[in-house]
Amino acid sequence: MHIKIDDTVEIITGADAASELRGKVLKVFPDTGKILVEGAAKVYKHVKPNDKNPRGGKLSKEMPIAISNVMLVCPECRERTKTGAKIKEDGSKVRYCKSCNAEIGQLSPAKN
Ligand SMILES: [Zn+2]
Repeated sequence: MHIKIDDTVEIITGADAASELRGKVLKVFPDTGKILVEGAAKVYKHVKPNDKNPRGGKLSKEMPIAISNVMLVCPECRERTKTGAKIKEDGSKVRYCKSCNAEIGQLSPAKN
C-alpha cells in the first residue's frame, strides 16, 4: 500500500477525474485496496430530521474508491507523481517523489 492517511491524491479515473479533483486521504482499507478521499465520489442522502440533524436535509458522504484510481500528489512539487522507496543510511525506509526526489514520509523507522 503506497498511499497513506493524510496524503493528498488526485483522482485519475472515474467521474471526478475530469475536474482533476484533489483531496486528502481520510481512510485506507488495506483489505479491499480502497481509500476514502475527502470530497471524492460523493453521494447524497436525504435524511429526516432527527436528534443528530434537527433540520434534516441532504447529507453528503464520500464513498471508498479503488486505490488504482488515484495518484499521489507530491507535497513538494505539487505534481501527481509515482513514489519509490529507498533505504537511508540510518536504516530507515522512506518514500520519495520520482519527479523531484523529495522525501514524502517514512515507511519504517531507523535501525539503531
Ligand atoms: Zn515532487
